[in-house]
Amino acid sequence: GRTIAVFTSGGDSQGMNSAVRSVVRMGIYLGCKVYFINEGYQGMVDGGDNIRLADWNSVSDIIQKGGTIIGSARCADFRTPEGRLKACFNLLERDITNLVCIGGDGSLTGANQFRKDWPDLIKDLVQQGKITQEKADANPNIQIVGMVGSIDNDFCGTDMTIGTDSALQRIIEAIDAVVSTAQSHQRSFVVEVMGRHCGYLALVTALASEADFCFIPEWPPPSNWRDILCAKLQQQRKEGQRLNIIIVAEGAIDRDGNPITAELVKDVVNKTLKYDTRVTVLGHVQRGGAPSAFDRLLGCRMGAEAVLALMEMTPESEPCVISIDGNQMVRVPLMQCVARTQKVQAAMNEKNWELAVQLRGRS
Ligand code: ADP
Repeated sequence: GRTIAVFTSGGDSQGMNSAVRSVVRMGIYLGCKVYFINEGYQGMVDGGDNIRLADWNSVSDIIQKGGTIIGSARCADFRTPEGRLKACFNLLERDITNLVCIGGDGSLTGANQFRKDWPDLIKDLVQQGKITQEKADANPNIQIVGMVGSIDNDFCGTDMTIGTDSALQRIIEAIDAVVSTAQSHQRSFVVEVMGRHCGYLALVTALASEADFCFIPEWPPPSNWRDILCAKLQQQRKEGQRLNIIIVAEGAIDRDGNPITAELVKDVVNKTLKYDTRVTVLGHVQRGGAPSAFDRLLGCRMGAEAVLALMEMTPESEPCVISIDGNQMVRVPLMQCVARTQKVQAAMNEKNWELAVQLRGRS
């Protein structure tokens, strides 16, 4: 059996534990040795107790927990060749040359960089006398499989990322709660949801909660959005609606690139229509709490597929990500997905919204 290590990196999301559990159990089932790496790349660079052997029971009772029990972190060291050299040594010391990375596009980019550097890193380690030439020859490269853990659903190449569905549930519960009080008092509520670059959470929850209006970064409204918004809200009230719900993604902007914040929207509605308007910022509540059945299952399926993919990989194999495509688990070249995800951002920076939306869709 092979020696595998699993880690979570970047922002946490619900369902990561399920993915970790699945990697550990599938790995052990197939006769592999499986390690946890705590605190993402930081644990890989620091080594020591951060890298510890997993057993079947070490992943019981975690599937229902939000976040990630093995910790996640952002790590500046791993962005440097020196940091990656330490990480390489720590892995080789334990004969780990199979990695499962659960994180966002940043973490996966880092993993790809690590694999590209690997041949140079082992050469350096041999020169420094830290590993033998035999060890270097036996491990000419590292095999890497990624899974995307992110509540934002901001990664191209997969229908859903691990954590998105749970975040949607959390937002919907919050909006339902706000609706009942808004109804009583004939209020308007502006609800801010996460999504700095990606409006998926805002768009989907707006549809699912019958919101009157929604602002997302990929489809900024023209500069007269205040008039459009107020006309729409007024019309809803005329038709007998006692309340208004407006969803604003964190990263919402207008066509000129000016931010549209929940506070700003509230002021517009307050001043123009004189409706009693309140802001609710959901914040980290959206990342927390128990994962939904969908995310638990998604983590399970992706984790198992990740180990199966590793079993077939050789040192020559390019890294892949496990994605869900039409309810099937599929393997997609990692860099292809990362490149496309970065292209979306570039298109948005260039205010080419049509291209951004097109790239976000299916290939
Ligand atoms: P996410 O994975 O959620 O997108 P980040 O972009 O913060 O989060 O990336 C997480 C970590 O991945 C970073 O703190 C860093 O350690 C590593 N990383 C990201 N990009 C690179 C890169 N280009 N080279 C090396 N490591 C990287």
